[in-house]
Amino acid sequence: MSQYAIAVHGGAGAIPRTTMTTEKEVLFRRGLEDAINAGDSVLAAGGSALDAVEAAVRSLEDEPVYNAGRGAVFTNKGTIELDSSIMDGRNLMAGAVTGIKNIKNPVSLARTVMEKSEHVFLSGLGAMEFAEKMGLEFAPDEYFFIQERYDQLLVAKEYDRVVLDHGIAGNIVPVPPPSKKGTVGAVALDVHGNIAAATSTGGMTNKKFGRVGDSPVIGAGTYANNNTCAISCTGHGEFFIRSVVAYDISCLMEYKGMSLREACDFVVHKKLVTIGGEGGLVAIDRHGNIEMPFNSEGMYRAMKRSNGEKYVGIYLDQVR
Ligand code: ASP
Repeated sequence: MSQYAIAVHGGAGAIPRTTMTTEKEVLFRRGLEDAINAGDSVLAAGGSALDAVEAAVRSLEDEPVYNAGRGAVFTNKGTIELDSSIMDGRNLMAGAVTGIKNIKNPVSLARTVMEKSEHVFLSGLGAMEFAEKMGLEFAPDEYFFIQERYDQLLVAKEYDRVVLDHGIAGNIVPVPPPSKKGTVGAVALDVHGNIAAATSTGGMTNKKFGRVGDSPVIGAGTYANNNTCAISCTGHGEFFIRSVVAYDISCLMEYKGMSLREACDFVVHKKLVTIGGEGGLVAIDRHGNIEMPFNSEGMYRAMKRSNGEKYVGIYLDQVR
């Protein structure tokens, strides 16, 4: 039987080690394990990479500790606005949604856009109207309310207030709010030799004015092409959009003949770092090579292969 593999992430910018508790780490690791197992079951049964990444991301979206679906962060207005995208490396088909509310599993809506609409990218009310028409599952506001996330919003708003009232040049040096990241994503290779990628997020805490990050942007946060690679990114979205990270890695492989590792290292550790972009990604090629680079303190990540090899890690020194 041909080989298959899956890799997932639960966001870059992990909780600093000094404040990570054993109980929390158990929850984060269990979420990652459940996600790779969900994807692996699909792949082991001969299912497609596309089905596997959707299953893995759905599992992470249902997990309140991750910033996607149920555990999404709050906007400045105290609402939840979700973004997601998915791409099929077989045929470059893609689907994406942004600024949606009350959709239990945004990645499945992104897939429905890809398969059942004549478009690639739907936003806000229109995307929700489409979701309703297609029979996607909705969930009430309470489903998405996580107290810890709301507290993070209050801290972020207080930071804004101090900076606005006093300016950073004054005597008051505000303590920056904790890391705002935690997006989820997956890439997979199936037994048929096809690859796919998917990403889902609540974006960044305290985001304003309908802000959209990289996660639903095909080519920035997500990309898949059987000839090169499948990529799902996480990090400070503005920098990932400006660097067109996922497509850049694919291009470096396609036009410069770089290996997956060379392309990932160049983009994550050189190009992004040069402009101050913090984050990371998971990547796979059709030979089953997997890369999980990041330039942040940590990145929740995991992978599993058909030969039984498995890895779950959060911090840099937890080497594969
Ligand atoms: N990339 C996401 C965004 O900017 C955030 C994250 O990865 O945690 O919306």
